Amino acid sequence: MKSMEEQQMNSMNGSFTYSQIAKITSNFKTVIGKGGFGEVYLGILNADTHVAVKVLSSTSMQGYKEFQAEVKLMTVVCHENLVSVMGYCDEDGNKALIYEYIANGNLRQYLSEKSERILSWGERLQIAVDAAHGLEFLHGCKPPIVHRDLKPANILLTENMQAKISDFGLSRLFSTEASHISTRPAGTFGYLDPESYTIGRISKKSDVYSFGIILIELISGQPAIIRQGNEDDIHILRWICPLFDRGDIWSIVDPRLQGEFNINTARKAIKIAMSCVLPIRQRPDMSHVLAKLKECLDDFCYDFMLLGGKNVNLL
Ligand code: ATP
Repeated sequence: MKSMEEQQMNSMNGSFTYSQIAKITSNFKTVIGKGGFGEVYLGILNADTHVAVKVLSSTSMQGYKEFQAEVKLMTVVCHENLVSVMGYCDEDGNKALIYEYIANGNLRQYLSEKSERILSWGERLQIAVDAAHGLEFLHGCKPPIVHRDLKPANILLTENMQAKISDFGLSRLFSTEASHISTRPAGTFGYLDPESYTIGRISKKSDVYSFGIILIELISGQPAIIRQGNEDDIHILRWICPLFDRGDIWSIVDPRLQGEFNINTARKAIKIAMSCVLPIRQRPDMSHVLAKLKECLDDFCYDFMLLGGKNVNLL
């Protein structure tokens, strides 16, 4: 049994006991989500700080190793567009991660056709820039960090709709000497590049592909895998490619925006997204993607100001 002093010292290091986790979550009272690790609970740390506590379920498909990797990575990686880990529990088979609480849910919820809250064109561009910032930071770490499971459910939104990338459970640190690639494929169907399937390797460029798919979802409101009733499901790229080849911007942009978008920046954003899903050798790196997206957002803000805040089309 650890003394009170010892317990406090541990929690200052970021390590928490299971009983502290139970206290923080008021005995696992409020579930705020469920993922591959298990359930995510709402918690309160130091009397007034909201946190999200991810408990690793024993029946979880993902296992111990991924939990360990996530803890090690997340505690040292810090950026305003990444969800930070505030602590963890690793006691007698009980494992949990304490994250900063991100109040506005995940991007998947907003892109769902059931969502009542429609993201404006400006918000979509800002979310794209924020997420690109987070990913560019991970790729720029020494050694670089590849996320390996980027998808809208892993992009969380704050009260101010700032986007933060979460869930580094599948990430690995890449040693510069060893190689820039991993031999262990991971990821989610629809977001994994064809090279990862065929060669079985994941690199920073695999994240760029996943980011491209997310960008197309943000622009179009279509999911990565489009369900077609009685017909076969199709991948979002099969849907967008013919429209992109025809330059049919109007059919690509989310109809829920009801024309309230800026056509110049829509054209640019679609071009950036399509560059991310090019074959691996032609695919840009995240620094390039981020620079292009920032240009796009700047253009949007300039046009927006010019028109006195009206989000109308500029041909
Ligand atoms: P997978 O584990 O398969 O990648 P996932 O990303 O949806 O799926 P989790 O990361 O476990 O799984 O998160 C499940 C849900 O819990 C998220 O989609 C989100 O709605 C909520 N959630 C996770 N982390 C936080 C957080 N820090 N703040 C607020 N809500 C969170």
